[in-house]
Amino acid sequence: MRDLYPISQPGQQPQAPVHREAEDSGTATNGALHSLPGTPCLPRPIPCHPAGSPTVPNRPSYVEPNTEFQPLPLRRQLVSQVSMDCPLSPASRPHSPWGRFDPYSPEDQDKEYVGFATLPNQVHRKTVKKGFTFTLMVAGVSGLGKSTLINTLFLTDLYKDRKVPNAQEQINQTVDIVKHTISIEEKGIKLRLTIIDTPGFGDAVDNTESWKPIEDYIDQQFEQYFRDESGLNRRNIQDNRVHCCLYFISPFGHGLQPLDVACMKALHEKVNIVPVVAKADSLTQAEVYRKKMKIREEIKQYGINIYQFPECDSDEDEDFKKQDQILKDSIPFAVIGSNVQVESEGHKFRGRVYPWGLVEVENPAHSDFLLLRNMLMRTHMQDLKDVTGETHYENYRAQCIQNMTRMVVQKRKRSLREKHLEQSEADFPLPLAVADTETERLIFEKDEELRRMQEVLERVHEHMQHSQRGGF
Ligand code: GDP
Repeated sequence: MRDLYPISQPGQQPQAPVHREAEDSGTATNGALHSLPGTPCLPRPIPCHPAGSPTVPNRPSYVEPNTEFQPLPLRRQLVSQVSMDCPLSPASRPHSPWGRFDPYSPEDQDKEYVGFATLPNQVHRKTVKKGFTFTLMVAGVSGLGKSTLINTLFLTDLYKDRKVPNAQEQINQTVDIVKHTISIEEKGIKLRLTIIDTPGFGDAVDNTESWKPIEDYIDQQFEQYFRDESGLNRRNIQDNRVHCCLYFISPFGHGLQPLDVACMKALHEKVNIVPVVAKADSLTQAEVYRKKMKIREEIKQYGINIYQFPECDSDEDEDFKKQDQILKDSIPFAVIGSNVQVESEGHKFRGRVYPWGLVEVENPAHSDFLLLRNMLMRTHMQDLKDVTGETHYENYRAQCIQNMTRMVVQKRKRSLREKHLEQSEADFPLPLAVADTETERLIFEKDEELRRMQEVLERVHEHMQHSQRGGF
């Protein structure tokens, strides 16, 4: 599986220890990350910027508000600086700050370049400094191994203090939304990961609309983002939108349960759903295959839009295309989770010990765990975020704007009507009644019907006239 392009920094240790810091559950929020340790500083100031040598100018400092703007002298000054300070000889170019990531090789030194091939490096450096955030939701009925899988995925123990309700407590159980935030650092890259758990889902005797709190939560995050984006200060917007929802399907039923269908259909236009078959160790290889086929068929049959992996570019190498196809064919991922480390034949791994043998979580022959983790973390995290922003959030935003426009129009019509009523009480009544969309639609349909009837009548009339003339 091909990774995203290298993220390690020059001069760094090959494998920095993974640092995890669990934050309080339930109240933690995503926050903007500050500067990262391990992000090398650029040598600055750099006196001139000749072609082929990317440099980073000093950021302009704060300007006094009453400073007079003097464009002409400044321009003259810049021109003279370029002509005096920038010798054209390639040999005198300053040392590149990009080190081994510099896309310009020493052989390029005698050619003339503007220098923008370093743009990816600049973007990379900036985003690394900002840090990354990702929000993952887990949904599905209790006991399917959601918490265990999350712990296995992120090598952590997020659910130490969890209290599992008994059967009596579950009768009228409502769905809770519990938020856990952890900061993970790997190779100088910081990721602030938020896990949204939905305990209580599917536990009650009557599960009608039990997905509503989940749906509402996703909408609330869109709403918050929409407000922040439309606000005055848009610099440090926290993105708490849900980027992916792992939907857990029971390995024991015959495919999807009605609750699964209803829940996925309620969420599929709002979040990237990635379906997983839980506790795959309870199924034989043939059963896993059959279950996957059945679930895929049902997903299609019920019109559920799960997350679609992007199409592979035609210029990708064959190995990449093969891996991509394996990933697509594995949906729904059959996963196994474990909170314990097992030692066997000298090596340690996360696994499950049974009287008849061992199950290795990361063994591709035992489960799709590795495929899922690679997809989430290594290959498709950015795409999941892009689809969230460009499709799900855009839909929400468009709907919001449409509703707001409609409200404004109705308000205007209402105030106009009131104004006219006040002005012309004695005059004839104005037909300014506010038509809601349903009424407008009905009026339009009736108009169309009348038009069609009129056309038919005209044709009948013509036909009668024609036959009358023929008769004479
Ligand atoms: P949750 O309610 O969905 O969060 O489920 P839990 O993670 O609390 O797991 C419920 C039970 O299933 C626990 O006893 C786990 O040890 C067990 N479990 C979790 N993952 C697996 C798995 O992959 N296979 C099997 N056989 N059991 C699992």
